[in-house]
Amino acid sequence: MACKCGSNRIMFIQAHCRDCFNMSYENMDYDGYVLADIGIGSGDDVCLDICLDCGQIQDWRPVTDEVLQEVIESKRYYPKRS
Ligand SMILES: [Zn+2]
Repeated sequence: MACKCGSNRIMFIQAHCRDCFNMSYENMDYDGYVLADIGIGSGDDVCLDICLDCGQIQDWRPVTDEVLQEVIESKRYYPKRS
């Protein structure tokens, strides 16, 4: 895997936090399992690939406030099944 900056120095992080995950953003707060569909992992684990040269989270996709609100309200912490 290579970052958009050209670096191959990608660190994988897996943080097993089960239902002790919490996040806050503006007026949104959440405690529980890791939320799915916002690019940070899901369920029991926060998972991120981070470039050690530029700090970019790999494969990050923008998350709108509407999507974040919907994920929090539905307590979606496992990926959608298709
Ligand atoms: Zn990079």
